[in-house]
Amino acid sequence: TKHFPVRKRGRELLSKTVRSVRAVEDVTLRLHRGRVTALVGESGSGKSSVARLLAQLHLQTSGTIKLHGEEVHAKGGRKFRAYSKRVQMIFQDPFASLNPVHTVRYHLTRALKIHGRAGKTPQDLEEALYDLLTRVQLTPPERYVDKFPHELSGGQRQRVAIARALGADPEALLADEPVSMLDVSIRLGVLNLLRDLKDRLRLAILYITHDIASARYFADETYVMYAGRVVEGGDSESVTQHPAHPYTQLLIDSAPDPDRPAAEEKDGGTGEPPSLIDPPPGCRFHPRCPHAMKICSDQVPPRFDVGEGHFAACWLYGEDR
Ligand code: SF4
Ligand code: MG
Repeated sequence: TKHFPVRKRGRELLSKTVRSVRAVEDVTLRLHRGRVTALVGESGSGKSSVARLLAQLHLQTSGTIKLHGEEVHAKGGRKFRAYSKRVQMIFQDPFASLNPVHTVRYHLTRALKIHGRAGKTPQDLEEALYDLLTRVQLTPPERYVDKFPHELSGGQRQRVAIARALGADPEALLADEPVSMLDVSIRLGVLNLLRDLKDRLRLAILYITHDIASARYFADETYVMYAGRVVEGGDSESVTQHPAHPYTQLLIDSAPDPDRPAAEEKDGGTGEPPSLIDPPPGCRFHPRCPHAMKICSDQVPPRFDVGEGHFAACWLYGEDR
């Protein structure tokens, strides 16, 4: 759970109540080595905050993060440094995450040195650099190693960002919309690269996206977030082919489908996501839900099983609905 305090303004300064944005509420998810887990939701659903919590760029308001069953302790300390090496983040905008005045060599060398993987001699370092570039298919490496970010395409920059993350020899990559700023024609190449790395290096990948169709293609498991909560999750095929939660159904119906004429597409315009300062009680989706019942605005729905390893947090699946 993560609540961000809202800065007070004007007359609010005098009041004692502290308002907060309840960005992430009671989210439980599990990543596995050698598997991609997608976290799907609209912008503002809290999915990036979940990644930042896992990377410990934000500290949680409550709850725990565990690696191999062992609790991760807050910033600082040896254990935390070991954790932050094993869990690396990849951001949406590779241009913003690379320093424009430094070359690829600088970025990768720095990552290797921080994580003690630069070797002893200049030759060791050169080999490690070339190895990283080869892993992300920037070959031949000598063509890329001395380039500046602006001399690379968006896809190449994102590959450098991935290489830098690999410099830590991580177990998990947290990829926050890693292809959404890239040209449509090169997105698949970057996703395929991530999938290939996941298999070869047995990485656990958290793939954050607003595009549920790409989750089906790319992820083993898919979780759907709405207004700070996980509303559905399970095997990607099952979640995307047999969505149980009304919100997931809405997401799928409103996603563009190349096999369906545009006129048939529902507009998905049954309202906007709610404010997270004062979210609706009970099921946060109830003001937009075509199936809402009385209990929905009273009580938060727990996770109900809707298939093998597939759950939905929705009262439609409660026993005594
Ligand atoms: Fe709709 Fe109720 Fe299910 Fe929420 S719990 S999605 S309001 S039916
Ligand atoms: Mg985001």
